Amino acid sequence: MSEQKIIDGKAFAAKLRTKIAAQVAVAKSKHGFTPGLAVVLVGEDPASKVYVRNKGEQTKEAGMASFEYKLPESTSQAELLALIDKLNKDAAVHGILVQLPLPKQIDSQAVINAIDPDKDVDGFHVVNAGRLATGGKGLVPCTPFGCLLLLKDLLGDLAGKHAVVIGRSNIVGKPMAQLLLNESCTVTIAHSKTRDLPGEVRRADIVVAAVGRPEMVKGDWLKEGAVVIDVGINRIERDGKGKLVGDCDFQSCLPKVSAITPVPGGVGPMTIALLLNNTLIAAARQKGVEL
Ligand code: NDP
Repeated sequence: MSEQKIIDGKAFAAKLRTKIAAQVAVAKSKHGFTPGLAVVLVGEDPASKVYVRNKGEQTKEAGMASFEYKLPESTSQAELLALIDKLNKDAAVHGILVQLPLPKQIDSQAVINAIDPDKDVDGFHVVNAGRLATGGKGLVPCTPFGCLLLLKDLLGDLAGKHAVVIGRSNIVGKPMAQLLLNESCTVTIAHSKTRDLPGEVRRADIVVAAVGRPEMVKGDWLKEGAVVIDVGINRIERDGKGKLVGDCDFQSCLPKVSAITPVPGGVGPMTIALLLNNTLIAAARQKGVEL
């Protein structure tokens, strides 16, 4: 019974990647172009290296062109901006992603805002944030976009639902709240200064936790039948072993929810699938075709 409550993000993402690969095949056969994604890694951060490798592999598996740029830790902001300029002008590159975090000497926001907004597949450019806020046709940040697809698949129409988003970062919390508002949810954004967080969460039909605090949200904070989307990825030690856990205490939440994403295997796999989806959207718009 409780198995059915666990949202299988891995399977959903695999299905989405299959659909994207079919659309890439159409782009090639019918329209004569290959969607291309450039990923830029600066430095040696081990987690970033894994993410970049996975992104490259999945891009190629979907039949897209993958361009990887690995720059040394000592790269200056001017050098990185020169590469962005080159990629902005490269017609084979439809999407550009600069892996964060960047080394200290580089202003991340300046780099993000140097990317052509129509190639900004992470959706972090100020123009894309503005388009999301004003109902324009932009590119939406991958993780919240993935959360929204899971919610719509599960619940269909979200109008009128009370959603509580915990976290207000530019990459997850704020765009998530905006997406839910665009779906006509009533949205509460909670953060570290929120008074009575359990009380706020108890009113929610939908809870999205994007906090970065292991197992913070407890089952007794939840309304019976709530849907919980756990974005958190936290590495902890338990029983002498390393373990990944979310921002929600899965075991105490499970009996209260109607559905919940596990960590790992929930939101995580959706992020790269949505990156591929954004690259496809960006390529189709640049080419002026429908796929
Ligand atoms: P940030 O650190 O940028 O933001 C965390 C947010 O949580 C802030 O708004 C902060 O509030 C809020 N917060 C912190 N402590 C509390 C608290 N005790 N009570 C209520 N709110 C609190 O994190 P991100 O948004 O980048 O990431 C959040 C989590 O999601 C992380 O675990 C990260 O690893 C994960 N993540 C997962 C992805 C995936 O693919 N699945 C992708 C991106 C992130 P305030 O603003 O007041 O400081």
